[in-house]
Formats: sequence, structure tokens, C-alpha cells
Amino acid sequence: MVEELNQFAYDLLWTWQPRIEALFRALDPQLWKSTRENPVLLLAQLGEEGVRRASEREEVKRAFDDARTAYHEYYERKPRFMDAQAPLGIAYFSLEFGLSECLPIYSGGLGVLAGDHLKATSDLGLPLVAVGLLYKQGFGRQDIDAAGRQFEVYAENRGSDLPVNKVEGVEVDAPIGQRNVRIAVWRAQVGRVPLFLLDTDLESNPNDLRNITDRLYVPEPDRRLRQEIVLGIGGVRILRALGFDSGVFHLNEGHSFLCAIERIRELRASRQMTLEEARLVARAGIVFTTHTPIAAGSDYFDAGLVWDLLGPYLAQVGISFDRFMDLGRQRPGDPRERLCTTYAALRLADQSVGVSRLHGAVSRRLWKDAWRGLPDAQVPIGSVTNGVHMPTWVAPEIASLLSRYVGSDWWDLDPADGRWHAVYEIPAAELWTIHGDLKRRLLELSKERAETPHEIDMNALTIGFGRRFAPYKRANLLLRDRPRLTKLLRNTKRPVQILFAGKSHPADQPGKDIVAGIVGLAREEPRVVFLKDYDIALARHLVQGADVWLNNPRRFLEASGTSGMKAGANGALNVSVLDGWWDEAYRPELGWAIPSGATLDRPEIDDVAEAEGLFRLLEREVVPAFYERDEAGIPRRWVEMMKASMRNVATQFSARRMVIDYFTSAYGPGARRVEQLRLLPDWGG
Ligand SMILES: *Cc1c(COP(=O)(O)O)cnc(C)c1O
Repeated sequence: MVEELNQFAYDLLWTWQPRIEALFRALDPQLWKSTRENPVLLLAQLGEEGVRRASEREEVKRAFDDARTAYHEYYERKPRFMDAQAPLGIAYFSLEFGLSECLPIYSGGLGVLAGDHLKATSDLGLPLVAVGLLYKQGFGRQDIDAAGRQFEVYAENRGSDLPVNKVEGVEVDAPIGQRNVRIAVWRAQVGRVPLFLLDTDLESNPNDLRNITDRLYVPEPDRRLRQEIVLGIGGVRILRALGFDSGVFHLNEGHSFLCAIERIRELRASRQMTLEEARLVARAGIVFTTHTPIAAGSDYFDAGLVWDLLGPYLAQVGISFDRFMDLGRQRPGDPRERLCTTYAALRLADQSVGVSRLHGAVSRRLWKDAWRGLPDAQVPIGSVTNGVHMPTWVAPEIASLLSRYVGSDWWDLDPADGRWHAVYEIPAAELWTIHGDLKRRLLELSKERAETPHEIDMNALTIGFGRRFAPYKRANLLLRDRPRLTKLLRNTKRPVQILFAGKSHPADQPGKDIVAGIVGLAREEPRVVFLKDYDIALARHLVQGADVWLNNPRRFLEASGTSGMKAGANGALNVSVLDGWWDEAYRPELGWAIPSGATLDRPEIDDVAEAEGLFRLLEREVVPAFYERDEAGIPRRWVEMMKASMRNVATQFSARRMVIDYFTSAYGPGARRVEQLRLLPDWGG
């Protein structure tokens, strides 16, 4: 029994199979909460004796049977693409993965997207392994001081407390200047997909190499480049040491661009290829996703630093230092320019994409100099619109509704499948009642996480705003007209309440000012709540329980945005600027578009105009629609919009659709080209 529990605990499948999660909760609900829903800690703290005693209780026995059934059903169900084997394995590289709040190796959207990618890949049964870093301190937890300012609390994670297993007997080296850093590896199991997490915290490493994997997103370029060396170069070496012959590499953001260089090195070493031959073969298998819509969002490294950390390695690869630097320069040949990881990744990859259609277009303009002379429209950057893993983000209650009306495999249906139409047959009262339960659960949690105590009103229109507090996301847009905001909130007949949550990067002072502004507002306004320490668990409650999901970034700066997809699939109505995914999803039956002039060169003017547009939308359309009720107290028109949102968002913006897009448009063709190139006879010599 303990053995089986361990099997469940070390397979992150439980994060999207509520019946397995329910078993952990049933074992000891208090402890489940106090370990922050970490099954490994839960089992360690219960001990064998505790587990044995708990298992004598009837409800635990039932939960056990149920979990076991769910677990076996998952692995016995033949995944849709099990037979569509790519000729070569695919390796997915990312500096962060957001899989569960108990595995703190993520900061925000990029990581959660990577986590969702792996979960959907497991559901589909496609051949992919993933590589990331195991941070000892992760991303800091957010707390708020008396002045309302965010500070970070770093907890030390021991690998043994996390749902990861050390892979014994496998270590590799990666070059740091004249030295080598030794890298160990841990394995997290994401259903069928293994995630290998690299760790430099070994006694055999000197201190300044040992701490490379301490923290996520260190601001110092020197430390950042060391992490990228470990991820890119160390990652490929670990895969080989583990016996994976992956030929297709997906770089989730430019951080892992060095994996392409290591690939060139190994091809040269094993096949005696020239630099140019190796570059072509490697390139055929490199898929790159760019996530940032501004040049400053990329990493930049000075030539001096690159020389110090990579000089000897590049000599070994056989690339001249200048050529290497030029890969990452907007204007190759300009010695003053630093190396930009996005340019480098674009020039090393055969297929590059942005994360929404609009972001694809923005990227073609932004990075066109990687192909000097091509008109914008011909710049070879496409797009694969992001998606979210529905079984993770859709509330179990909504999922069971979808199971009953659409089919138990609703999460595995194509967007065009006719069965989806049954969403519209769900009785309004039933959906509204379930939504009410989810909202109640959110408001209960809000009492615990609120920065200051609040009365929370079950009946008020509840707006959720949960995301990183980066300035471009404008969490404070509604603060531009405080009297108008107060009027909206304190309306006695049609009150509105807003739940805010989000961290800013530890080094982002303007972001922290915005946190302080919202905390200040929440301390004054009874109907504004700031929820501390936004993480996956909090995000899940917010997107499942909010009535409205608000997203008001400066247009063109939100590459995709994924929280709105999570909310929309649960029936929360999006009120959003037409940016990122919403630019392609928006239709009046699903939600609302905040008008945006987006002059971009004068953000102050945009902010004023868009705040005005947002207030008008809320006052004239959103609030009236929410409070328009029938005799039974149900907002009929609203509920119809909820259904349209669920139907469209849960299908077109699922990670399932995203992963299939990557396979059909990028991984499959890449794998075939690499294989063809591999089969060409050598020219000899
Ligand atoms: C989904 C998610 C994000 C990303 O949200 P955006 O809308 O893309 O800003 C960030 N953090 C967490 C914890 C999430 O779950």
C-alpha cells in the first residue's frame, strides 16, 4: 500500500486526476493543507504507521479504490497518437516548468505553459522528453510588508521533499570557461512524459558552480549565462547519458539556445561533419518558440562574458568566436553589439513561432533583421497559439458536467466534433448552481489569502485579475479614475468586487510599485481584495470561481496570455484588450473587448483612453448583463455566454490542440528532415 501511494505521489498525474488527489486529501486533510498539497511531504510526515492507521478508515479505503481505478484507467486507455511515432524522439527544453504548486520551479505563464505542454503530450501519447533545472530555492514566495510593499521569502527545497527522484549513477559535465561543472539529474514523472531536472548542487563542485541552480531568473548576466550553459549544453549531454537519441529539440524561449550549439558539436564529433554540414542537420530539428513581444524581454550577453564562459568550448566546437557572437546580433559584424539569445535561437532554428497569430505578426516585425532584406510578411516566423491543459484547469464540477453532456472524453475531442454542441443543452440552472459553488469556494479561500481581512459578498459581480505584476499588464488601470471605480464598487443594487493576485519579479521596482498601489487600494476599499502569493493553486481557484476575467495589458505586449483561456473554459467571461489569444478568440457571444487605440509611442494617452473604455464597458454592458435576472434569479443571457465561452475556449485554446499543432507543423516535419539528412551517405574524406 505504501508502495502504491508512492507510485501515485511521484507521478504528477495526480495534478490532473482529481480522484487521485482526493486520496491524498482523504489520508489527512489538515496535513494535506499544511504541506501545501505536497504528496511526498504528506507521506513522509504521516510515516508508514500513520498511513496504515488512516487506511483503516472507510472513506480512505473508498478513496484508495477510486484513485487506483483512475490511475489504471489513465494508463490503460490507448492514447490517441500512440501509434503516430515520430522517427526520432523530441526533447523539450525550458528554464521553468509549472506543474504543481508543490514543485516550485516556475515563475509564471511561461512555466505553466511548459507544464501544460507536457501534460497534454502525456494524454496524447506522443514521444517527448523534457529538460529543465531543479532550483533549490525556486521563485520567492510573495509577502507584503506594513507599507504594502512586496518582499520575497525563499524557502530551501530539498530534492527529497519534492515529487522528483534522483537518477543514480548519471552525471555529466558542462563547460564554464576553463572549468567544468558537474551536473546531476532528477526525474519528475508527468504521466507518460519524463522531465529531467538538472542540479549542480554537488559536493564535487566549487561553491561558485554549485550555486548555479539555486534560483530561477537570477538577474546577473553572469549567473544567467551559467544557467543557460547547464540547461542547453548539460541538457543535451544528460539526454545522451540517459540513452535518448532525440533529434528534434524544442526551445521554449531563447534561454536554451545553446542546446543547438551542443547538437552541432556532437554531430561533428560523432559523424566527422564539417561545421556547415553539422549546422544543417542540427538546424533541421530545432523548433523555437519566442514568447516576448519586445526586444528588451530577451537575454543579452556581453562579448567579454561570452568569451570568459564559452571561449574554450566554442574552440572545441570549431566555431570562431566572432561568428558565434554574430549569430546573436541584429547587425552581424558590429563588435559593440551584445549577443541576444532570441536572434541566436532564430538563426539556429529551422522553425520559429510566436504564441498567437497577432504575436506571430509582431515577431515578424520585431526580429526581421535576422533575415535582412526580407519584407516583413516573408519573415519566416509563424505562430502556434498557446493553449492550456483543460483537465488541470477546468474545475472537477464543470468537468463532470461536460462528461455528462458532451462525453467522458470531452477533453480529448477535436474542436469541430459535433458532440460539443451538447454544451448548449446544459440547463441554465444547473450550470449557474455549479458556478455558484465554485465561486463560494474561491471566496472561502480568499478569506485565507487576503492581505487584509474583508467581508466578501457572494452575490456581487466578482472580477478576477491574476497575473504577474509587470507594468505593461496595467493591474492599476482602473485606479486611473478612483471616484468612478468607487462608484462601481459601492453600488448598493449592483455591487462589484475585484480580486487581485500577482507577484512582480523581485528586481522589478515599477512592478512592485503597482503591487503597493493595489494593496493600498485593497486596504481602503472593502470590495477590493489583494490575495497574496499567486501560484498555481490560487490561480486555479481564481479562474474557476470568478464571474469575469479581466485582462487589460498594453496592446501588442501580451504575446498570448493564458489565464483568460483557463477562466473562459470554466465559464468566466473575459473582458480583455484585443491582444494575444483574445484577438483571435473574441466574439461578442463569448465576452467583451476593451477598446484600444494602441498608439504605443504614447502609452500615457492609451492608458487614459483605455481606462475610459473599460469603465464604459463595465458600467453599460458587463454589470447590467450580470444583474439581468429571470424569476428564478438566473442571468439567462449571461449563462448562455458562459456556455459559448466553455464550448469555444475549452476546445480551440486547449494544450491538446497546441501540442497537436506542434506535432503536425513542426516536430513531425523536423524529425523527418533530420532522418533524411542522417541517411545521406557521408562525403568521406
Ligand atoms: C496561467 C498562469 C499565468 C499566466 O497568466 P497570463 O494570463 O498569461 O498572465 C501566470 N501564473 C500562474 C500561476 C498561472 O497559472
